[in-house]
Amino acid sequence: MAEFNGVPIYQWDPWPEPLVTKSQLSKAGYQPGPLRAVVRYSKSSTGDGFLHLFSPDEGIRRKPPTEKQLAAQVKRKADELKARTCTRCGAVQYFKRDLSGGWCECCWLAVKTADDRHAAAEWAKQVLADGCVILDMETTGLYDAEPVEIAVLDHTGAVLFNSRVKPLRPGRIVERDPDTGVAAVDIHGIRPEDLANAPSFGEIYPALYKALHGKHVVVYNKDFDLPILRATCEEWECAAFEFEKASCVMRWYTQFCGDWSDYWGSYRWQPLPGGDHTALGDARATLVLLKEMVASLSE
Ligand SMILES: [Zn+2]
Repeated sequence: MAEFNGVPIYQWDPWPEPLVTKSQLSKAGYQPGPLRAVVRYSKSSTGDGFLHLFSPDEGIRRKPPTEKQLAAQVKRKADELKARTCTRCGAVQYFKRDLSGGWCECCWLAVKTADDRHAAAEWAKQVLADGCVILDMETTGLYDAEPVEIAVLDHTGAVLFNSRVKPLRPGRIVERDPDTGVAAVDIHGIRPEDLANAPSFGEIYPALYKALHGKHVVVYNKDFDLPILRATCEEWECAAFEFEKASCVMRWYTQFCGDWSDYWGSYRWQPLPGGDHTALGDARATLVLLKEMVASLSE
């Protein structure tokens, strides 16, 4: 028979009957005597791939723990529990996660979202104090799009600009997106024929320039609207608008709402609440949001 450290190696089956494991001995209050046999075992606690077996008759009676040992054991358990307990909310972590006197994930997230919400509200306060202008556009679609309606408000809600715009490719408005089946007309309801008598971008450019140029412009979803505006200026060979600053309300409002996604590791994007898919209505809804964010500072 094959041997390991001078003792026989058995297979799982048949189990060498009278022999027992270390933990079986321990449960009965004994420490193991000499090794008597092993069984091949891939997950052995010793790491040598063998389950160690001992004779129950050779077990050594364990001495009862001293008072000092008992006290140490109690302290060890208390320390371990303390390490798993959130110092902010008192929640105990399962799976023995060691917080080491810190906070649980819920608490970190609660504090982060509260800080982020406050920062977003402060941002809104700042842009309104800056005398920002609010821009909103309806367009011919998602790709290669042109504006069909543009509105600009000042920070008090006064209308600086509001007009429909006749696009160069009005047919795009009713083209369905092959992926979603949605056309721009489904969203804003403006049909190509509604724009037949609207001014062109070239015609409205001077007034729009006056409303936007050099301003701190804020947009709900800046990364959608501003590239379309830039491309349209280019197409009409008009100078691009230069802004003092351009900010995205959606980014800040999303942070303000604090709808955290563990999956994405970020806040979930929020659609514009209260918009009616007219440029003016959406610009007004955006101003309402900015004011709501500011109002939260005095809650
Ligand atoms: Zn906590």
